[in-house]
Amino acid sequence: MECTRCGACCVAPDIAALDKPLGMRCPHLSEENLCTVYDRRPSVCRSYQADEVCRLIEAPTLDERVQKYLELFELGAEAATLRQKGCTSMRQARGAL
Ligand code: SF4
Ligand code: SF4
Repeated sequence: MECTRCGACCVAPDIAALDKPLGMRCPHLSEENLCTVYDRRPSVCRSYQADEVCRLIEAPTLDERVQKYLELFELGAEAATLRQKGCTSMRQARGAL
């Protein structure tokens, strides 16, 4: 599976190395959904590979792809709670759940 640079994996999952909770857009993701710190992105981002999930979450918009990703892993409700509570760090997210 080729990466289509759809941006979903920079929004949907939580990324501890970036203190990024579930469902929150990575602050390093540009408006065009490209990584603005590509040369110094954390190793977890470097090692991330496009796989079957990328195909399963295909959708016209980034919001829809993120939602499909979260639902695929049964994380939709958790992400909605974090969004509702405005959690912008993993510590806040841990406190909110
Ligand atoms: S979700 Fe998959 S296709 Fe989209 S940017 Fe990430 S690796 Fe690439
Ligand atoms: S650092 Fe770059 S590759 Fe990693 S999640 Fe953020 S935007 Fe995506």
